[in-house]
Amino acid sequence: MRLDKYLCDMQMGTRSELKKIIRSGRVTVNQEHVKDSGTNVTETDLIEFDGKPVRYEKNMTYLFHKPGDCVTAKKDSMHKTVMDYFPPELQILNPVGRLDFDTEGLLFLTTDGELLHHLISPSHRVEKTYYAILDAAVPLEAVSAFAGGIDIGDDTPTLPARLEIVSDSKPYAANLTICEGRFHQVKRMFAAIGCNVTYLKRIREGAFTLEQLKRGEYRKLTEEEIALLK
Ligand code: URA
Repeated sequence: MRLDKYLCDMQMGTRSELKKIIRSGRVTVNQEHVKDSGTNVTETDLIEFDGKPVRYEKNMTYLFHKPGDCVTAKKDSMHKTVMDYFPPELQILNPVGRLDFDTEGLLFLTTDGELLHHLISPSHRVEKTYYAILDAAVPLEAVSAFAGGIDIGDDTPTLPARLEIVSDSKPYAANLTICEGRFHQVKRMFAAIGCNVTYLKRIREGAFTLEQLKRGEYRKLTEEEIALLK
């Protein structure tokens, strides 16, 4: 592939920025300075940018703190989307699953179709924990009801879920861990026990939490971290 595309795919800049950078002599291929951005390179070449190797990775996965003001989609004609938080060179990412417009929290985005499928497939039972603020106290019986699976109006009851009551006085709050991703599942599970969700945040997925990420911030996962998701 072209040298400028290689560097662009690795998020070193836009194609036009990279053309200038390459022309200025900051990039070497197999330790030779190259000024032509159309130079043909492969993944086995040693590409260095300001003396630092830039390895080609086929796929990238990001951990994102979704704010409660955007749609989990690549495009939307009315609203801001999660993609608006990412620069042009990362528009190749795809959101993994879906958080509602007003739901905040942990969302993975990836270019890896296989990983995406693995994470959203109910058969892989990846655990997701949500912190919910509710308009009424959660009855204690809900803990065993959720553990056994409940009817939320679908063809089958929900799979066993873990409910932890965080606060039984105002503001009422609970953590719910599920391993499926049905439409509005958390809101519908709480509705089934007479509680409306007034705030919802995904705080964990698999081995990952939001760590220090603030709303709208993201970070790239390392290969070791991606292996934890598989
Ligand atoms: N369950 C919901 O109800 N909403 C979400 O955004 C995620 C899970």
